Amino acid sequence: MRHIPIVILGGGIAGLGAALRARELGLDSVIFEARLSLGGLLDNFVVDGFRFDNAVHLSFANEPEVRAIFDRTPYFTHPADSQCFDKDVWLKHPVQNNLFPLPAARKVELIKSFVSRPDIADPANYEQWLLSQYGDDIARSYPIAYTHKYWGTPPNRLSVNWIGNRMRRAELDEILFGAFTAETPNTYYTKEMRYPKQGGYKAFIQPLIDASAVELDACAIRVDSAAKRVDFRDGHSVSYDRLISTLPLPELVHLLVDVPADVATAAAALEATSIDLVSVGFNRVIDLDLWFYIYDADIHASRAYSPSVKSPDNAPQNCSSLQFEIYQRGRKARFSPQELKDNVRGAILKMGIAAGEDIRFMHHKRLPWGNVIFDVGMEENRQIVRDHLESLGVKSCGRFGEWDYLWSNQSLLSGYRAL
Ligand SMILES: Cc1cc2nc3c(=O)[nH]c(=O)nc-3n(C[C@H](O)[C@H](O)[C@H](O)COP(=O)(O)OP(=O)(O)OC[C@H]3O[C@@H](n4cnc5c(N)ncnc54)[C@H](O)[C@@H]3O)c2cc1C
Repeated sequence: MRHIPIVILGGGIAGLGAALRARELGLDSVIFEARLSLGGLLDNFVVDGFRFDNAVHLSFANEPEVRAIFDRTPYFTHPADSQCFDKDVWLKHPVQNNLFPLPAARKVELIKSFVSRPDIADPANYEQWLLSQYGDDIARSYPIAYTHKYWGTPPNRLSVNWIGNRMRRAELDEILFGAFTAETPNTYYTKEMRYPKQGGYKAFIQPLIDASAVELDACAIRVDSAAKRVDFRDGHSVSYDRLISTLPLPELVHLLVDVPADVATAAAALEATSIDLVSVGFNRVIDLDLWFYIYDADIHASRAYSPSVKSPDNAPQNCSSLQFEIYQRGRKARFSPQELKDNVRGAILKMGIAAGEDIRFMHHKRLPWGNVIFDVGMEENRQIVRDHLESLGVKSCGRFGEWDYLWSNQSLLSGYRAL
């Protein structure tokens, strides 16, 4: 059996970050990746000459050590401007600060509801947080409706621990200003979004890929931490001194031998969303937004973005593209690929984005792991699993290894700091 000092499971950005740290420390490491290419969620695919990332992916990394890697690749900088579509109306993001396009009577209702919002000092769940931030009407019309689509979970089941700077806090001045004028400032939590000029988002991590020792098509199926050995699907095994895993915690626990019952139960309670991607190629250049949110319940997608706006390199000349993201809780598919494509086609027409004859193709792909769901009490289950892994000497890192809402820059650092 081959011996490798540092075995890294998973070749996404976290695994690549761990390999970088191993090189800096002068330690031999090999990344074992189940798929035939590296990048994980940051990988991309090509359909009929159009390149699509796996969901939106733009960089707003500000850590110098991450910028030192990403900035080696020439990039475009986009303003972080996005739109929201709700029942035939396009509003700037965030909706509560951009009520201008709504009828005057509706604005009055929403603002009155905001002014009389409940004062909840310590919200027990996300629904309470939303009601106390925005008032009943704004909360129910927008973020609560969106929560069902994006998290596949009622907001009273979600905690508030993931919010951070992701949701703009409501301020009376901002709401009033945005009700009177369309000329509102951008309040998004980052002002600029970076994207490689060529090669898709993955180009940012190509320097790490080029420098790493890797085995592709190597799917780990068993981890024996007592014997310090990993078995792979094709029958081969390796032994290690240190094991770093970037696999989703529930999957990693499945691979371990002799898992205590409480750990298995805690791991099984950790849930994430899965994502259906419907990617659309258009025959002509269409004036598209970089990305937008969709509130309508009859449209399954909650968000869409344009790969060809991110970079023209993502589409053939004189063409453009969109990718729609459809979320659900858990990994059991809710809709067939054809149902999803039909729904997206209907959305494109309803939203006035393009005509049916502009569509060159629609392509479906499924991502089994999207966003970690912050169910109330999730952290206790996560801690049980983390403690068990620590007792076995297994380092778990990355978005699904830490089981956290990490951006790509944070996932890179999570892997880097695992050694
Ligand atoms: C919808 C969406 C939008 C996002 N948008 C942005 C954005 O705009 N900007 C940003 O910075 N970040 C964004 N992110 C976050 C970013 O994608 C993640 O932080 C990052 O890609 C996670 O990297 P990772 O290496 O931790 O996990 P992954 O990329 O999931 O890598 C894990 C790897 O492990 C492999 N693997 C799984 N099982 C096994 C096994 N048994 N054996 C061997 N290998 C295995 C997988 O194939 C995969 O390659 C977004 C994420 C999502 C879901």
